[in-house]
Amino acid sequence: PPAGLDPSKIREVEDVITSGFFPAYYWQLLNRVAQYYCTDLITVIRMALPPGLLEKSQRRLRLKTEALPKGAEAFCSLSAQQVLSLLNSQKEGDYSARYLQSQIRGANRGIRELIKRGWIESYLEPPKPIRAKLQKVVTLLVQTFPMELTKSQREALEILRHQGGEIWLSELKKTYNISVSTVNSLQKKGCVVIEERERLRLLQEPETGKDQAKPLTPAQADALKVISNLRGFSQVLLHGVTGSGKTEVYLQAIAPLLAQKKSVLVLVPEIGLTPQLTDRFRARFGDRVYVYHSALSDGERYDTWRQMLTGTSQVVIGTRSAIFAPLPNLGLIVLDEEHDSSFKQISPIPTYHARTVATWRAALENCPLILGSATPSLESWVNVRQDACYLSLPERIHSRPLPPVEIVDMRQELQGGNRSIFSHSLQEALENLLQQQKQGILFVSRRGHSTFVSCRSCGYVMECPHCDVSLSYHYTHEGATELLRCHYCNHTQVHPPTCPECSSPYLKFFGSGTQKVTQELTRQFPELRWIRFDSDTTRQKGAHRELLSQFARGEADVLVGTQMLTKGLDLAQVTLVGVVAADGLLFHSDYRASERAFQTLTQVAGRAGRGEDPGRVIIQTYSPDHPVIQSVRSHNYTQFIDRELPQRESLSYPPYGRLILLRITGMDGVEVQQTAELLADACGDRLGNECEILGPAPASIMRVARRYRWHILLKFPSDGEYMIGDLTELRSLCPQSVSLTIDVDPLSI
Ligand code: ADP
Ligand code: ZN
Ligand code: ZN
Repeated sequence: PPAGLDPSKIREVEDVITSGFFPAYYWQLLNRVAQYYCTDLITVIRMALPPGLLEKSQRRLRLKTEALPKGAEAFCSLSAQQVLSLLNSQKEGDYSARYLQSQIRGANRGIRELIKRGWIESYLEPPKPIRAKLQKVVTLLVQTFPMELTKSQREALEILRHQGGEIWLSELKKTYNISVSTVNSLQKKGCVVIEERERLRLLQEPETGKDQAKPLTPAQADALKVISNLRGFSQVLLHGVTGSGKTEVYLQAIAPLLAQKKSVLVLVPEIGLTPQLTDRFRARFGDRVYVYHSALSDGERYDTWRQMLTGTSQVVIGTRSAIFAPLPNLGLIVLDEEHDSSFKQISPIPTYHARTVATWRAALENCPLILGSATPSLESWVNVRQDACYLSLPERIHSRPLPPVEIVDMRQELQGGNRSIFSHSLQEALENLLQQQKQGILFVSRRGHSTFVSCRSCGYVMECPHCDVSLSYHYTHEGATELLRCHYCNHTQVHPPTCPECSSPYLKFFGSGTQKVTQELTRQFPELRWIRFDSDTTRQKGAHRELLSQFARGEADVLVGTQMLTKGLDLAQVTLVGVVAADGLLFHSDYRASERAFQTLTQVAGRAGRGEDPGRVIIQTYSPDHPVIQSVRSHNYTQFIDRELPQRESLSYPPYGRLILLRITGMDGVEVQQTAELLADACGDRLGNECEILGPAPASIMRVARRYRWHILLKFPSDGEYMIGDLTELRSLCPQSVSLTIDVDPLSI
């Protein structure tokens, strides 16, 4: 038994339902994740395994309508009233206890009261773990068919023979309209046998064409040569500008591994770009390509998982969670767009980063890890000097130029009387699209509610006097007052009525979402056909693929979207990329704002001019002189890095220091604040002088889903493995109604 566990609390194993769900060495990986990210092993196992496998029984509550007197609410306490009304709002009057608790403050008290009165009852719903799906399969037993057969019996046998002697019974019925009784009588005659067999639920994707390896450019060939010669664990940073052919390098690195019966894991940031990428892989490697990500159904994930365990040589393409894909014979891991923040899990715990886990996994498997990006993360850039090998693809394929980037100063547009969200340049470019029948992309950076405040006349941005970050706009529900607040140190001030710099009254918070932009497009360019591509329009399964193929078929002129658009789309017809307002990226109140802005803008610019026709990029901003904008304009990654790294270093932010963020949340604002203060003190006692403790401060959005949120930021030196194991003990200091999440290496604060 693990240390510190009371042996009397350990129960006997009752039953083994399934076994062999991951390769043996996997325990080491899971343990390391649990330790590093300050969680228990079981939480990590739950997260790593396909969902639905380790379900718990759930306590549910049901309204006993027959026992409920009229006007019952009048008799009971406030929390009981709330429980009653929530149960009443559901047709069957039935809810999981956990849901009630999440919705109602003091729900447990109300629940107890109502059970005592006999108006509701509580019961345990048994878990429904996911299982293999069994189906009947019909197998042909005879070569020559007997004489006395009916017409439909003979027909069934012909179909079977045509299908290679085997077919699912349901398919025989559905596709060929052969009845079950026909098949049954064939079985009696000894011609076929019907058996139950597992049918894997694997994602069915449309057919792709075939594709051959392309002759490599000299830079690609050099990179491939280095990669092919790697033996054992090593890390490679493949830094290639947008459209330089990184994917072709991956494909040609993978092919010989498959020939050696190895498997390969390819991680990509979001499902938004998976369809295009999977199609390219399937065109090259056929049906040895599988996908694994959270948009699959539970059944599909379960079956894909078990399919991987068979050990057949394959390529698995997936998002973050696929880093736990149980491929037993891994020959290579590729993390494409390695800088992308969606590789980091924010909730639920463990808050792992797939890149970090990938380095551990590659080391355990003793295989290489390729990190690919046009805009490497600062972490990987610094890592190159220590552990990783650096490969560069500095040019686009066929020496196509990177698109020229035009910066439009929106202050001047306003002064010139243009109040549209589109500058003159962008308007003219959109007109041209229509005339020349080309396609464009409009990027809109809308991130949550919290946003920065800037002056429309002079571009002044409200910043924290202590922290060198922009202040966030807050609106309090109670007093309807507008406040500006710093997430880092909790400096708070009232939103001034006029600009402190130029006294202009146009001091406004920013944010125009995709919806507003499409409205404006329709108003100003009625002939222009657009498709909105964001998390609202892509919620349904397959919607990503559908919208992108509509666009690729030319059914729209402009694709309007958020972050999702920036990720690896390779659309040859796109000649124009417009960034409606870059400022939302530049002044996000986060120490990583510049890095993220540079990456996003460079990536989105990189969508233009990938085909034969040259591209054009227009970035609209109120801060044309911002250094990030300047580096994006000149496609100059090193210039950006040379400026950003010293800033991080001087403040000991990653990659020069490590951060751990404690998120403290609860329904009672006062209790949450007090707990946060208590925890900050406890951290001070436990962690040495080398650790800097910032806060506690309220989170940027202090109240979400009725929960108050406070943060404590711990800053460590990055050298040496820090003993942070103690932090899990902090949980015991929290009252039951307050929860603590320990976010190790948080990406945003
Ligand atoms: P990246 O992943 O670096 O953005 P891609 O791999 O998507 O770049 O390549 C950009 C385009 O160039 C793709 O359409 C790809 O098919 C094409 N391409 C890549 N390598 C070659 C090559 N060696 N010869 C011809 N075309 C290539
Ligand atoms: Zn001003
Ligand atoms: Zn501050």
